[in-house]
Amino acid sequence: MDTLHALMKGPLPPLFFCIGNPVVGNPTQYMMEQAFKSLDYPGQYITCEINPKDLKTSLEGLKALNVKGGNVTAPFKQKVFPYLDALSESARLSTAVNCIIIKDDGSYLGDNTDGKGFLESLVQKVGNLDHKKVLLFGAGGAASAIASELVLAKVEELTLVNRNKEKAENLASRLTGITKTKVSVKPWEGIYLIDESDLVVVQATSVGLFDEKACIDVEFSKNLGNVIACDVVFNPIETAFLKKAKQAGCETLDGLGMLVNQGAIAIKSWTAQNPDRAIMREALTEAFAI
Ligand code: NDP
Repeated sequence: MDTLHALMKGPLPPLFFCIGNPVVGNPTQYMMEQAFKSLDYPGQYITCEINPKDLKTSLEGLKALNVKGGNVTAPFKQKVFPYLDALSESARLSTAVNCIIIKDDGSYLGDNTDGKGFLESLVQKVGNLDHKKVLLFGAGGAASAIASELVLAKVEELTLVNRNKEKAENLASRLTGITKTKVSVKPWEGIYLIDESDLVVVQATSVGLFDEKACIDVEFSKNLGNVIACDVVFNPIETAFLKKAKQAGCETLDGLGMLVNQGAIAIKSWTAQNPDRAIMREALTEAFAI
């Protein structure tokens, strides 16, 4: 069903949005448009740069326009909380919303699909997470979303390491006791030596974004076995951290899969349809080449 058909015969094309500031440089709309096209779904997606002082009225306006859902990016992932009617467990635990689902009664449900997107990539790579130990660098939005999902997936152990240790401790205390996952915090002083085998290592800081050479202060021990190194940074796709991990003999997982999956999970929530992730990945690769 195409847009013209929807316009002429109804129902009108469903509307979706991405709000943030700044949003120039964010390719979500293009990825979503390609996904809708691949589903033959007549959704229309717009990107809106919102002045923070207008957030409330913007959300009210979107509601009045009868939009069906949307994405939220920086700096609004926490700021939208007062204007939502309900939160998913992922949004509540990660204290961030990147996806709004508008229910049939018009109420706004805040969700977080970042962590779910990461988990989907990881499960595809390693299978069952039940007995996995995870070392996670970072305690910001992306790290909190991933940590929450890892705890909900009941990984064996989750160790949090962040430059600002207090932030890691706050995250750990929020996530402790929710499931059987043992959550702990380790300090990060100087170079952090990764010296444990059978480990998933997640680089969830912003280091490396747009800077091909930047890498967090870590080293990998020699002779590690079965270590999967993952990065949330998606541009460049092969970050300096992933290169370092590869040189140390680790398997790697890039951040682009997470970005695709978080969008695909959002589309599934809005439309009950599963978009083609390969097409979405291609759209992002095309966007980042500009
Ligand atoms: P936040 O600003 O919320 O958090 C930034 C994190 O990076 C903090 O933990 C911060 O530590 C840490 N950090 C920053 N600079 C350094 C440094 N020099 N050394 C060590 N740690 C540092 O950002 P987000 O969590 O929202 O985003 C993080 C990254 O994740 C970004 O690159 C973003 O693009 C990416 N992302 C990827 C997604 C995907 O789908 N692949 C989805 C969402 C985000 P401290 O607390 O000490 O300041």
